[in-house]
Amino acid sequence: ELWGRGFDEKAYLAAKQLKAGEDPYRQHAFNQLESDKLSPDRAIRDTRHYSCPSVSYSADLPATSVIITFHNEARSTLLRTVKSVLNRTPASLIQEIILVDDFSSDPEDCLLLTRIPKVKCLRNDRREGLIRSRVRGADVATAAVLTFLDSHCEVNTEWLQPMLQRVKEDHTRVVSPIIDVISLDNFAYLAASADLRGGFDWSLHFKWEQIPLEQKIARTDPTKPIRTPVIAGGIFVIDKSWFNHLGKYDAQMDIWGGENFELSFRVWMCGGSLEIVPCSRVGHVFRKRHPYNFPEGNALTYIRNTKRTAEVWMDEYKQYYYEARPSAIGKAFGSVATRIEQRKKMNCKSFRWYLDNVYPELTSPQLGQSGSL
Ligand code: UDP
Ligand code: MN
Repeated sequence: ELWGRGFDEKAYLAAKQLKAGEDPYRQHAFNQLESDKLSPDRAIRDTRHYSCPSVSYSADLPATSVIITFHNEARSTLLRTVKSVLNRTPASLIQEIILVDDFSSDPEDCLLLTRIPKVKCLRNDRREGLIRSRVRGADVATAAVLTFLDSHCEVNTEWLQPMLQRVKEDHTRVVSPIIDVISLDNFAYLAASADLRGGFDWSLHFKWEQIPLEQKIARTDPTKPIRTPVIAGGIFVIDKSWFNHLGKYDAQMDIWGGENFELSFRVWMCGGSLEIVPCSRVGHVFRKRHPYNFPEGNALTYIRNTKRTAEVWMDEYKQYYYEARPSAIGKAFGSVATRIEQRKKMNCKSFRWYLDNVYPELTSPQLGQSGSL
């Protein structure tokens, strides 16, 4: 077969077929039956703006280590993620694909894939969550640039070059693609709007929002990047030394959630920038629920992670977070002393600066008599 070293795709997939009558949404919160029907090499529509194909990129872009963490991912989506990377990226740009198996039930989901060239597998010996798992992958990565992907993605035509170009020009840029939608019901690949950026409310709830009107009008070139206050979190490219310099991730955050705010505030406030590169498109299966267990519970984990973010990065504005999320008041969140120390050492700007310069659209809530800060 194409990949040599005896990787038997059909056997890999066949070993995990759904049983007759089994609810196809039960294990993964998407329709596994539809995913399993599709080829790991299926074609998808090129959803880029028509001016993108004529943009040219440097001939000596840096190679990247692709890091994919997963906990009990479906084999068909995991394999398609890996193969889309190998099929749609010039080989010279992919140093390696590092799979971090976050203590999935079956170690072979990950191990068998190492028969595919460039694919490596690290397995956690206990559940760590996506934050510590990504750091583990980043620590062993041998390329100068890191590319994080979820385990149920399909990368599109020329997805990597425009992002590597931006990072090569300025290593403090942290860049994301436009994230297209892979339907959780029928796995159709659907183009997402190119006029969206990442935003949030005071409860630290992420939302896609329209680019402000002035910026939209000023955008004469649809291939140019869009500044974004926050990234969605799962899919981005970052220079490895910049990631390390900035303090990687907060390793005391558990399982899922909130780390995208913490990283985004840190990047902006400590001298970098965040952008969405519209000529890069990556599809992702967006789900309506988490198909996996949160050992401390979903709500408490999200509170812990966002509370750590608010305590380290939001200065006096953290009071708005607590007003919007009163259930966070009094909840345990561990020590943030070392993160605050790092923030001071790096001489990062204030949250006030972030609001004024990066996200002026996030206005202070009406505080009744106490007025605004
Ligand atoms: N993940 C992980 N460990 C966990 C939870 C999630 O490695 O404890 C992985 C998951 O398999 C996926 C990525 O982290 O590849 C993001 O999780 P998910 O897709 O559930 O989040 P969403 O995209 O819905 O925000
Ligand atoms: Mn996901």
